[in-house]
Amino acid sequence: MAETETSASEVAHDMAHHVKPAGFGGPAVAPEIAVRAPATGQLLGTVPVDDPDRVREVVAKAREAQRSWGELRVKQRSKLLKRYLTAIADRMDEAVDLLISEGGKSRYDAVGEVAALFTGATYFLARGPKILRDRKIDGIVKLFLRARITYVPRGVIGMITPWNYPFVIPVYEAFAAWVAGNAVVLKPSEWTPLSAALAKKIWDESGMPADLFGVVNGYGETGAALLESGVDKIHFTGSVKVGKRVAGACGERLLPCTMELGGKAPVVVTEDADVELTAKAIVWGKFFNVGQTCIGVERVYAVGKVAGPLTQRIVEITKDLRQGDGTDDANHVGAMVMPGQVDIMEDQVKDAREKGAKILVGGERAEGPGRFFPPTVIEGTDHNMKVMTEETFGPLLPIMAVSSTDEAVALANDSHLGLNAYVFAGTASRGMRIARRLRAGTVVVGDVIANYALGAIPFGGVKQSGLGRSHGEEGLRAMTETRVLARPPLMSWPVARVLGYPYSLKRSNQARGIVRRLFGSRGRASSER
Ligand code: NAD
Repeated sequence: MAETETSASEVAHDMAHHVKPAGFGGPAVAPEIAVRAPATGQLLGTVPVDDPDRVREVVAKAREAQRSWGELRVKQRSKLLKRYLTAIADRMDEAVDLLISEGGKSRYDAVGEVAALFTGATYFLARGPKILRDRKIDGIVKLFLRARITYVPRGVIGMITPWNYPFVIPVYEAFAAWVAGNAVVLKPSEWTPLSAALAKKIWDESGMPADLFGVVNGYGETGAALLESGVDKIHFTGSVKVGKRVAGACGERLLPCTMELGGKAPVVVTEDADVELTAKAIVWGKFFNVGQTCIGVERVYAVGKVAGPLTQRIVEITKDLRQGDGTDDANHVGAMVMPGQVDIMEDQVKDAREKGAKILVGGERAEGPGRFFPPTVIEGTDHNMKVMTEETFGPLLPIMAVSSTDEAVALANDSHLGLNAYVFAGTASRGMRIARRLRAGTVVVGDVIANYALGAIPFGGVKQSGLGRSHGEEGLRAMTETRVLARPPLMSWPVARVLGYPYSLKRSNQARGIVRRLFGSRGRASSER
């Protein structure tokens, strides 16, 4: 683990940083995590920091519970999981209130987060039985082996998740794991562990098999312990930096992993795009969840004469947004979860300003106990500025005027990240042609961010945005091991009988003859030409 393990000093730094967030004061480093509301600084609760022994114990119990769960038919599992989903719907207000307090969200963003679970997870419940059904392998292969692919549960899936969507990310991904017959042990972000605790509480109280869903708490060290605890796969969602270390540690163990990492979603806007629709979509796709969305809008390339009116309309809509504590329904934009993120906003604004960009709205950290940075629109940006090349993950909206669609496409692809990308063009077909040229896991034309919440759409990135896919058929099957079962068409004539010992020159020559006749230059294929 040497290189990939979180060092004790880093963990201590994380803890100190965490327990004493900027401006809030707070208790000294403790073996438990104090969770504070980003919008008010209020102490919301504490969770213990679990040590490696406790992590192993939770994983062992999950493995035990998985045995009988994995033997159920997919349909039976889906039916039982429906009960959990219904219980979450019935207790939605509890989840929304917690996301407002722990996640710093506006009520609208919190409702959006919980609602996304239903548009996502119901896909696995409805389609799981079909997607995970055995598949026969057709074609000439059937002359030799009748083969079928089966999708077998992996066992225990270890999940490590971030703070930006602390309810939907773990629970949505866990649904895929459960439908596929696995147990789940979750290590939620140390910044937002209460949402995971609520998900677990609802699970237990709705009569689900308790140990099939384990939750362990702590900093990076607990995540590292989960990796070493004997889980059968890691499903990681988080930053590129930590993702590389986790993938490296998985590599050392040849432990399968899915990596959902950062994004720098570009938006290409052509000259003939509808300014009103585009501006509204960009502003929402940027400031939803205060810009703390991996597929959120990160940079805009406006082609030719559309740049002026588009920027003007974006500024107008942004000025109408109200920011503040989500308990006040008049607020549209909430607080930022991590103090470090606010520092990044300041740094990227300063860097852009120094290099000649103009701040049109916002730009300054708000005073007061809450951790607020206002929706900020920046024009006159270029790729020498951090705001155009590094992940922002906050409420900065940089706009760059370009002279052609080709230039926009080249700049959009000029990134080490490739999660989502967006195109706004005069017609859908024009937009789709541009979309094909953008290197990203998903390119949406004429809309923003909706793809995550639709369970049928495979989700994931290219380049440093990640490895593998969640959601869709690919994502569900990725929660299983592929096992092929095969037999000869005639049990009395296996290949082993035809080609096996004792060898005979006659049979060997026959085989040579067949290869030449079928595939050689004077064979059937060439004489047919
Ligand atoms: P992070 O990488 O700092 O932390 C993610 C999780 O990893 C946390 O639970 C953390 O405790 C844990 N962790 C830290 N060090 C570890 C280690 N050495 N071993 C194992 N686990 C460790 O990310 P974050 O700040 O919580 O989240 C923000 C990032 O997540 C952004 O970059 C964002 O783009 C990304 N993200 C990606 C997606 C996606 O689906 N692609 C979704 C949401 C967020």
